[in-house]
Amino acid sequence: WENTWGSDCVLRLYSDKSCDNQIGIADDDWNDHTLGKSKPKSAVDGRLISIKDNICTRDMPTTCASGILDKFKSPFNATVVDELENAGAIVAGKTNLDEFGMGSNSINSHFGAVQNPRRDGSGEDLSAGGSSGGSAASVAADQCYASLGTDTGGSVRLPAAYTGTVGFKPSYGMISRWGVVAYANSLDTVGILSKTTASVRDIFDLLNKHDQRDPTNLSIQSRSRINAYHQTPRFASRLTSAPLRIGVPIEYNVSELTPSVRRAWILSLAHLQKQGHTIHPVSLPATRHALSAYYILAPGEASSNLAKYDGVRYGTRAAGPDGDGKPDGYLYANTRGEGFGAEVKRRIVLGTFSLSADEIDNYFIKAQRVRRLVQHDFDSVFAAKHPLHVTASQHAQNDSVTHPDVDVLLCPTAPSSPPRLSDLTDPKKKSSLDAYVTDVFTVPASLAGLPAVSVPVTVAGQGDEAELAGIQVVGQYGDDELVMNVGEMLE
Ligand code: GLN
Repeated sequence: WENTWGSDCVLRLYSDKSCDNQIGIADDDWNDHTLGKSKPKSAVDGRLISIKDNICTRDMPTTCASGILDKFKSPFNATVVDELENAGAIVAGKTNLDEFGMGSNSINSHFGAVQNPRRDGSGEDLSAGGSSGGSAASVAADQCYASLGTDTGGSVRLPAAYTGTVGFKPSYGMISRWGVVAYANSLDTVGILSKTTASVRDIFDLLNKHDQRDPTNLSIQSRSRINAYHQTPRFASRLTSAPLRIGVPIEYNVSELTPSVRRAWILSLAHLQKQGHTIHPVSLPATRHALSAYYILAPGEASSNLAKYDGVRYGTRAAGPDGDGKPDGYLYANTRGEGFGAEVKRRIVLGTFSLSADEIDNYFIKAQRVRRLVQHDFDSVFAAKHPLHVTASQHAQNDSVTHPDVDVLLCPTAPSSPPRLSDLTDPKKKSSLDAYVTDVFTVPASLAGLPAVSVPVTVAGQGDEAELAGIQVVGQYGDDELVMNVGEMLE
């Protein structure tokens, strides 16, 4: 295979597939191509789909954009890759990311930074968001029809917002994670990026099924409970024509919001109101602690997950059989020291500290309590309860509406528009903490395992020159369909 990341750092192209095939198959061509021959197997039959490089593929390397897996090739496909291929999709290539998914700008990569296909007014290169920046850029640049990314704390939604694409993170446990390299297991989800909500929905429908190989994947029984809950008349009507109650979390209206983001938020609310839906301010008080909790929990889980990269079982190993002829103990240290990038090392140190015997009560356990508060906040504003927390008797009495609260929440995906790549690499202008802060609006839904979609909303202009901002729709657990419906209303 041929590595083309050096030039645009987006998509790995493979020599057995011609380059023409990688670049934008238009809808008409696709219809001729597929319909001309036979009935398409699925909505993605014959479509090119790129795959984030932390999702295992048998035919191509899976590097997680890390030096430590530089030459690693998985012996199997992730379930999601098998599902797409069985449905007739063509894996276009693997996309660049922040190493192991750790970052918000896709600059923490062993292979170099991802460039956003959109530039700012003065032609400067912009961040494509992270960590699924390569996936988002490959969609935005029409290199493929859709892309699979992963979203642990916002990694599909933020790149979608920065590149002007649609990015969907499903409820935790809906899509199989088997064969997806773990970053923080309790938060990791596979997400979908494409140009329209309709195509995201088509792909979600293919992937939303039980996989017994992933123990955190929803069981068939849990899936039926969720469906039964949504089929009660009160909730079924939300998917048809009933006016929706849209919640506006007041805590998200921070002074740091850039004017274009605030304008996109206001325009979206006005648009939904015009369609007959009603707008309601709601309060999510634990939100302001969500980011700190996330940056304790995610590195804690990551430090444990990354312990397996020791130069013995996977990927690259420091030179010499025993690490440059030094005693055995150095093999681990040398391999990890050379193989991991700076941000990953920072997370390992942070996570190991917060899980250590002396500190765990003060950090990890406290952060888990905050996570509970964040989940509780969401439960108290949604009209629907968490369908897996509703008792059978409540369900039978249809006593599942707590009070007249909201159906979905609407807020910005990120506080500001994409930063310039040159600013991100200048330590005087941006620190790693600045990257953490961009996740402030995406992390709460991740902590609560809720479905969320980011859709591009036009603030000014039109076409390729339009000024866009990502607007996020968040729903109750299991309300994936509803969230996508509202996203579609904003397109
Ligand atoms: N930016 C967040 C982080 O670095 C989220 C990453 C993700 O969702 N994979 O942890």
